[in-house]
Amino acid sequence: MRFKDYIYENSPIYVQNLFCTAYGLIEKNKRFSKEFFTYLEWLEESQYWGEQEIYDYKLRELRQIYQHAFTTVPFYKEKYKKAGLSLNHIQELEDAKKIPILKKAEIRKHWKEMVSNKSPDGKLYPRQTSGSSGMALDFYTTKRSINFQWALWWRLRQQYGVNFGDKSLSFIGKITVPIQQVNPPFWRVNKPLNQHLVNMQHIKDENIKFFIDYIDQEKFIFFSGYPSIIYSFCHIVESLGLIIKNPPKFVFTGAEKLLANQKFCIERVLQCIVTDHYGFSEGAGNATRCKHGNYHEDFEFGHLEPNQKTLLTPNTFSGEILATGFANYGMPFIRYNVGDTATWTTEKCNCGRNSSTIVNIDGRNEDFIITPEGLTMKIHSYLFKDTKEIQECQIVQYKLGEVVFRIVQRPGYTTWNEIHLRQKVRKWISSSIVVNFEYVDEIERTDSGKFKAVVSYIDINNIEVHI
Ligand SMILES: [Zn+2]
Repeated sequence: MRFKDYIYENSPIYVQNLFCTAYGLIEKNKRFSKEFFTYLEWLEESQYWGEQEIYDYKLRELRQIYQHAFTTVPFYKEKYKKAGLSLNHIQELEDAKKIPILKKAEIRKHWKEMVSNKSPDGKLYPRQTSGSSGMALDFYTTKRSINFQWALWWRLRQQYGVNFGDKSLSFIGKITVPIQQVNPPFWRVNKPLNQHLVNMQHIKDENIKFFIDYIDQEKFIFFSGYPSIIYSFCHIVESLGLIIKNPPKFVFTGAEKLLANQKFCIERVLQCIVTDHYGFSEGAGNATRCKHGNYHEDFEFGHLEPNQKTLLTPNTFSGEILATGFANYGMPFIRYNVGDTATWTTEKCNCGRNSSTIVNIDGRNEDFIITPEGLTMKIHSYLFKDTKEIQECQIVQYKLGEVVFRIVQRPGYTTWNEIHLRQKVRKWISSSIVVNFEYVDEIERTDSGKFKAVVSYIDINNIEVHI
């Protein structure tokens, strides 16, 4: 445990709230600067641009980031020269297709050489995310990129009439309320963002009445967070036959795919609008769901294109998502293979937006395991930070109550890693799930050559029948 986490967890509740407020102040300054409001205002208008206007904008942005990468990022310069590309390669949007794809493995190896030696956006912010192969991915972002991405998320909220600063409750995976705490309050408050926080570990049958009283009293305008956590909460409320008198007006989910059964359950219990957006921490693209149920590429922020395109019907096609971000000039991501797949349609959406329409983000379901408590969880995001001794890990769930970590070791791997992983599972996922280990020389790929981060023999869409 990091010293900072130790201090936090062992502090009284009012001090923890002060920590949350201090964190809120720092984040508020970072996310919601003057530029954020400028972006937000502009985005309100740009979302209804015509096709030609969008095309011109994207071509200009793509050319600009490509040339910037070519001239100021040693990694890209070498890569593109090797591919026989010139500085003036981009003449039309279609030319993007000849740019070599950026793979996660390359970023892991070369991320320090991917930094621009002439970034116009100043300070770089280090970030870490865990990729679908279970290995941590380090990268840098900039304040401009952070502001832009938050402006996209707030554009979605404003579309539904949420005002900046409205009171919200966030359902998160990060431990804000220490897991050993057995009595309420199971929430903390981040005052500068008017955001209350709960973490998934306390959402269980015996605590649910405390949560309901608290929600009824606070009258939140919206909930946000991981769909699997909000679903778990709603699922318990429903199964115990309880009622929430003052539900929020909206639920905005992100970070994971919002599954249909989760959406229906949340709508039944909270009687409100439930919607989501598609995004990823690397910040190289985003897609927002409109009121007609489709996702629209947020073309202002990045270009999303299909790789290995498969035609499904004359009007729909699927492919792996390749993303080119327009906002991060500190460490550009160009044709980055995110690891998700999507289905696009060429039909126009009735909402009036002309940006590309995505009918479904497919490849995320498989990231889930189910805990003995009946929670569906995307577990890679919490577990595989600081795990340099692991080359690859696949999590296999054959039955409820147990998970098997299938690991390809790297030099330095010891039994300490097993202990550490078990501790993390107990802390983040479930205190009662059994964790077993299996060591292999390589992890088998699927017939199409894909690595599967999670192999589950349990049907998550019919979770009710299994628990
Ligand atoms: Zn639409």
